[in-house]
Amino acid sequence: MKITIAKTAGFCMGVRRAVEIALDEANKHGEAIYTYGPLIHNPQVLALLEEKGIPVLDTIPEKGSGIVLIRAHGVPPESIERLKAAGFKTVDATCPRVIKVQRIIRRFARKGYHAIIIGDKDHPEVIGLNGYAENKGFVVDTMEALKALPTFEQAIIVAQTTQNIQFYEKVKDWAGKNHPNYQLFDTICDSTEKRQNEILQLAESSDAIIIVGGKSSGNTQRLAELAIQAGKPAFHIESEGDLDLAQLADAEVITISAGASTPNWIINRVYNHLESSLVGAKKPMKKKIYDCQQFLLRTNIYLSLGAGSLCYACSKLQGIEHGLLSALVAMMYVLSMHILNHLTAIHAIMYNEPDRAEFYSRNKTRLATLAIAVGGVGLFLVFTMGQVPFVLLFCMSLMGLSYNLHLIPGPMGQGKYKKISDIPGSKTVLISLAWGIVTALLPALSTQESFRLATIPAFLMATGMVFSRTVFYDILDMQGDRIVGQRTLPLFLGDKKTIRVLKWILVGLLIILPLSSALHLISSLGYFLSLFPMMMMMLLNAYERGGLVYSLLLEFLMETPLILTGVIALIWYIS
Ligand code: SF4
Repeated sequence: MKITIAKTAGFCMGVRRAVEIALDEANKHGEAIYTYGPLIHNPQVLALLEEKGIPVLDTIPEKGSGIVLIRAHGVPPESIERLKAAGFKTVDATCPRVIKVQRIIRRFARKGYHAIIIGDKDHPEVIGLNGYAENKGFVVDTMEALKALPTFEQAIIVAQTTQNIQFYEKVKDWAGKNHPNYQLFDTICDSTEKRQNEILQLAESSDAIIIVGGKSSGNTQRLAELAIQAGKPAFHIESEGDLDLAQLADAEVITISAGASTPNWIINRVYNHLESSLVGAKKPMKKKIYDCQQFLLRTNIYLSLGAGSLCYACSKLQGIEHGLLSALVAMMYVLSMHILNHLTAIHAIMYNEPDRAEFYSRNKTRLATLAIAVGGVGLFLVFTMGQVPFVLLFCMSLMGLSYNLHLIPGPMGQGKYKKISDIPGSKTVLISLAWGIVTALLPALSTQESFRLATIPAFLMATGMVFSRTVFYDILDMQGDRIVGQRTLPLFLGDKKTIRVLKWILVGLLIILPLSSALHLISSLGYFLSLFPMMMMMLLNAYERGGLVYSLLLEFLMETPLILTGVIALIWYIS
């Protein structure tokens, strides 16, 4: 069974912008914040905004105070005036593409033109657009209604930004033939156009189509209509709970698409729910492999194997003979720290990794016991390697433990930076440095020899690879991280700039590893390990092409290169 996610699924520019404005305003002000009408048409996002203290204002009271966000669909100009008159400050989160249509209507209305708006008369965007027509607006949603309109001397025709493209083409055709004096504007948003075209294209090769999004979202409804028109079983759902798995059991290829107001984390939940319920449903062996992968990844055991492997590879790069003890310590440290940090950050991973959050909530005690036990064993093992490695790992463990904890008690700790994790980018930098130290530096320190130059390229390789991996996850998690207030690198730089930074780091590794081997700074293993920055680069390119989601398979693909470093080092060592 294959599950595909449409590249265009999820937030469009206008919705992303509106949600970001709302979250930024919520963090900025002490005063009450409201949205006038639902900010976007998605129940989960609205529930989340409510949770963040941004309720919906359905009607404008006579008197009020605080900030009112104007929804992404826009509102009539009189509503803004009334909000201001009531005492509210307004922050405009109207999508710039909707503003463009509002301006067209207003400009022509002032010249005396009538405005024919092709759209749903009850849709907030259309109500808002009509408000700019200065009482000369007509809203129609069928050809019959259009033909029944009086003939105007001067008129413009615009479409609701999420209107059906094929229908608007018919409208333009009819107007061109019957009213050549009317001015036509292509106001359907290209995001809508791409989304609709993609679903029609994907429908051809799919056995079933799932459209995720609010039931009241116009563009989501139209996607579902198009999928049905394409003759394939199509299901419009709001969340994974609405899925009827029995109806999908025979589908070999399932396509998921989503409306412009559906957040990524909901799409990922649907994908993961389908994957975990249907993969291997008819093949028990496949199901067992899937469950095993899931267990290893959820518990971080797979990641810790990666740490051990990377440590072994770094030892061999540096020409250290006995790297197994260090590899064991690296495994214990990484397993312990990652479990503990997930346990203290269940709320933060709730949006991006709901399955993992649920797994950690369910197994809190068992996982905490495991983390403390392996952490203790790791410290004992490192103690046998010498005082310096022990002190170093002990300090790193303390730092790792305190990462998500409130460090400054009382009123002093009410500022912006209450925890280490509040420092922008700290998670990525600290994780990468910790991995570099534990996988490359500890093996070198355990030899009790004087400083070796080989440690530098080995350290750079380990930190560079882990940095790329961690930041890549941060890119996938951007929407959820913004909601829970995480301060990650991609949220500062944006995903495009972050990917550029990562590519430069990977190019750097691709130069450092073979060059260091050629200069005999490290062993010839360096040539072979260059493969891994290359693999990471391929993943980044795949992400840029679109369609990569936070799935078990992706997580597996991301962590496997770390394990392969150890396998290749072992083969290299034996041969
Ligand atoms: S679909 Fe287009 S017009 Fe509508 S909010 Fe999104 S970007 Fe703006």
